[in-house]
Amino acid sequence: MSAYQAPLAEMQFVMNELAGLEQIAKLPGFTDAAPDTVTAILDEAAKFATNVLDPLNGPGDREGAKRLPDGSVKTPAGFKDAYWQFVKNGWNGLTKNEQYGGQGLPQLVATAVEEMWHASNMAFDLCPLLTQGAIEAIELRGSDKLKATYLPKMVEGSWTGTMNLTEPQAGSDLAAVRTRAVPQGDGTYKLFGQKIFITYGEHDYTENIVHLVLARTPDAPEGVKGISLFVVPKFLVNDDGSLGARNDVYCVSIEHKLGIHASPTAVMAYGDHGGAVGYVVGEENRGLEYMFIMMNLARFSVGMEGVGISERAYQRAVAHARDRVQGKAVGFEKGPAGGPIIEHPDIRRMLMTMRAYTEAMRAVAYVTAAAMDNAKAHPDGDARKRHQAFVDLMIPIVKGWSTEVAQDVTYLGVQVHGGMGFIEETGAAQHYRDARIITIYEGTTGIQANDLIGRKTARDAGAVAYQVAGDVDRVAAKLASHGDKSLQAIGLSLASAVAALQSAIEWMVRTFGENPRVAHAGSVPYLQLWGIVAGGWQMGRAALLAAQQLASGQGDAAFLRAKIATARFYAGSVLPQATGLAHTITEGGESVLALTAEAF
Ligand SMILES: Cc1cc2nc3c(=O)[nH]c(=O)nc-3n(C[C@H](O)[C@H](O)[C@H](O)COP(=O)(O)OP(=O)(O)OC[C@H]3O[C@@H](n4cnc5c(N)ncnc54)[C@H](O)[C@@H]3O)c2cc1C
Repeated sequence: MSAYQAPLAEMQFVMNELAGLEQIAKLPGFTDAAPDTVTAILDEAAKFATNVLDPLNGPGDREGAKRLPDGSVKTPAGFKDAYWQFVKNGWNGLTKNEQYGGQGLPQLVATAVEEMWHASNMAFDLCPLLTQGAIEAIELRGSDKLKATYLPKMVEGSWTGTMNLTEPQAGSDLAAVRTRAVPQGDGTYKLFGQKIFITYGEHDYTENIVHLVLARTPDAPEGVKGISLFVVPKFLVNDDGSLGARNDVYCVSIEHKLGIHASPTAVMAYGDHGGAVGYVVGEENRGLEYMFIMMNLARFSVGMEGVGISERAYQRAVAHARDRVQGKAVGFEKGPAGGPIIEHPDIRRMLMTMRAYTEAMRAVAYVTAAAMDNAKAHPDGDARKRHQAFVDLMIPIVKGWSTEVAQDVTYLGVQVHGGMGFIEETGAAQHYRDARIITIYEGTTGIQANDLIGRKTARDAGAVAYQVAGDVDRVAAKLASHGDKSLQAIGLSLASAVAALQSAIEWMVRTFGENPRVAHAGSVPYLQLWGIVAGGWQMGRAALLAAQQLASGQGDAAFLRAKIATARFYAGSVLPQATGLAHTITEGGESVLALTAEAF
């Protein structure tokens, strides 16, 4: 068994050297993020993750959330107490506006902290994650009254938030939402309908729950242009801020799931007893537009779940591989009868794969988080736009790629454990099961890939995509001309991977308009290609910086040498997939579509 330890040195390296924390901390509004403060925040978060959240993860999985006969939902032992410690320590409002009690810290800092929550207890952190999304929606478009009524409590965490999008007939296709919102003539609405799969739709952490709900008004246009967004609290709020009547929104059941057992996934009934009182957010019929702005952050956070759970699975696998003695490893014939399995080359291959992918995903995500901060707070308008364009491109990659890679990493985590990986008590199986949802909620990988090829590539004829690929190319050239042979090798691999990406961008831009079905057949491989190259880009940058620090005698030499070795492994074992993926994208579409639907 292993206890989660936040990889603080690695996190600090990525934040400082790759994501540019120093520059972020100089942006207006972020000057509280001085290096010492950030170190103290990360240290405290690491303690909370290791001492409070991690020990609850396994027991929470075994006990699960339960719906009681009176309709209330009980979370596993210890979760409510942990939630209130989380709130009292101020973790809920890290990036939120100081006007509502938040701490106004950069997304970059919050991202490292968030990784620790996901790694130590993903089922627990889903509640704050969804609350962040709901806060974002109200802050972005809510009236002053909605903001004043709900934000201080939600930012503090004493009320939680949910996102109610999905209905039985409306999952990926939110245009099919049918929940009705009928205006009452006094500025309020009454909602009627059913929502399914609502994370923390009901629970026992807090007295009030604020649901953000997509619904249609009676004369709304068909499709996406007729959906509005509403705030529907579990308890109505009186003018003095105290809780009023129970609203007509109830959890009618919770789902039995493959993983994240401690997180209740609720079916919610609206308006079975006369109508659930709701308040419109922004303007009618613009709900989906608001939801999409907000979803960027939620999608990013789910990508971070991929990073966190991969790190956790990796740590558990390393601990097991050191402990488990089995046979003599090749090359160790003269030693004692048996040695730890970590000496077997194939175990090393699996651990290096887990490690390299996790480091690459983390670096890509943190660099994207820093761009979010620049897009929000950079004093120069053009720079803000440039950073936002980068963020927009990267969100489906962080979400889609990191969550897909987490499947492979948690799979390898089980494999390193051998038979014990299949047995629940080691915890490896839980990571594998818990990880399975992340490629599905907040938009499946297919939906992320549609976004990447359409809005993020074809719409501007690949302009931003080519720009980013150009940046990767420059890093590849720097590596290839480096004096060190390892760095040269990384540079050559990265150069051929980015060339494959450039050819895929060119093909995608052309084919998206000419033959959209064939373009869509290659969408997920295109997303994977982007992820692999973006990961190689950041691993290459890390190797360059590590080499520079080693040459000047700065930093921890063992850490820096391991960085270069891991980047070299990534270049040799992961980046070569890029050329194969480019081939799949440009040559594979016709055969994907070769059979008629009846032929399956
Ligand atoms: C545990 C859990 C928690 C959840 N939490 C929430 C929550 O808090 N709030 C909420 O509103 N929802 C929540 N969801 C719902 C979740 O967001 C949806 O399940 C998800 O968006 C997929 O929708 P669906 O299940 O209807 O699948 P479908 O849309 O039926 O998709 C089935 C398959 O078809 C593919 N597909 C569909 N359309 C396209 C397309 N246009 N292009 C390519 N492929 C396509 C999908 O990629 C998928 O592989 C949760 C779900 C689960 C299981």
